[in-house]
Amino acid sequence: MNLTPEMKTTAGNLMNFLDESPTGAFAVASIRKRLISNGFTELTEQNKWKLTQGNRFFLQRGDAGLCVGIVGNLRVDRTGFRMIGAHTDSPGFRVKTDDVYEKAGYVQLGVEIYGGPLLASWTDRDLSLAGKILLKKNGKLKSHLWKSDKALLRIPQVALHMNRAVNDDGLKLDKQNHLPPILALSDEKPFTMRRLNEFIASEIDVPAKEIAGLELEVFDTQKAAFLGLNDDLFVSGRIDNLAMCHAAISAIISLPENPESTVLVSLFDAEEVGSTTMNGGASSFLDNCAERIAISGGLNREEYLIALSKSILISADAAHAVHPNYTDLYEPHHQNALNRGPVIKINALKKYATTTDSSFWFEECCRKAGVPFQKYIHRTDRVCGSTIGPIASTNLGVQAVDVGNAILSMHSIRETAGVYDPWYMTEAMKAAMK
Ligand code: ZN
Repeated sequence: MNLTPEMKTTAGNLMNFLDESPTGAFAVASIRKRLISNGFTELTEQNKWKLTQGNRFFLQRGDAGLCVGIVGNLRVDRTGFRMIGAHTDSPGFRVKTDDVYEKAGYVQLGVEIYGGPLLASWTDRDLSLAGKILLKKNGKLKSHLWKSDKALLRIPQVALHMNRAVNDDGLKLDKQNHLPPILALSDEKPFTMRRLNEFIASEIDVPAKEIAGLELEVFDTQKAAFLGLNDDLFVSGRIDNLAMCHAAISAIISLPENPESTVLVSLFDAEEVGSTTMNGGASSFLDNCAERIAISGGLNREEYLIALSKSILISADAAHAVHPNYTDLYEPHHQNALNRGPVIKINALKKYATTTDSSFWFEECCRKAGVPFQKYIHRTDRVCGSTIGPIASTNLGVQAVDVGNAILSMHSIRETAGVYDPWYMTEAMKAAMK
């Protein structure tokens, strides 16, 4: 298949979304706007739900968890739920609370490593800060999402002359001592948290004394871009896994007013750190949301369990494309390419939730959508990664299939993906929800 205008538009929309989403909370905020403009209304966990056929809704839990649904025409104990799960968080750095300090004439920030980033890829890049600012005014708390439009931070590598072996031995980074980024040069006044608070307060136009808390992440200021002689690649941070969030949301938005089955897209936080938060893949989030839809439709607990037994979950997360310079690191008979469609991930140790049946079901969805697909198996002598698939499938007792688009440099600050694949995945997901 050739690169079509739809493919280029889909990839372009995804790239805009990646640029707007330096953190999971920003991704959720961007998706909320898109849902509201497409007729979805917000539900809360604190109020009773009254849902009827064709209702389009979303529910947020925490800053970076979102469950989006459309109530089908048929009862869920007849059809089961059609569910897609993905994660909003990405590996990187979180700023340590109250940890701004001066050393050797520089102002630096203490950072914690979040998940498993490729650390070396974060050095010598124009980094900045984004996150949640908790504000207290007249005794009331309010949170504000803030990102700086200018590059504020740098993790400089040491010069070659100080580390002559680096090109042979690789860049070794001590996690405590070598990663704190530089924020400024010291001046005559001591630099305390107060000065950082004053800067942020001026950016968001509030008095600094209203800042009650900060939850900041480090991000790369370089925007996503098309790449290659034929523009059939694109590069960005956070493709793992905002690309799958984008595909799932695009698919659910495009569904007809009244689909037959009830569909749910669940975007979880904290996948990169084990999924055990109130809105992670191991939480009650998707289960609670599905059960409340059932209750709202007049079903009892047994009928809800019947519905789950007929349900299927697509766990959508990035997959590994074969790297031309390291082909020997990949299973020789299951090497996946960019722009060749969704990858179905299979693992005998159940690091992926895919079964023969769920794989065949997803293959049928791809065939219906006219989309190619590929299959991934990890090398037997290497340890395979995992996803929310096995966790959510275990907790809910539903059949699941692990899929994703192939990318290069997974967990790098700047990952590489194919321009055809976002469109392929969106079309396959649409077919899966119909
Ligand atoms: Zn992922």
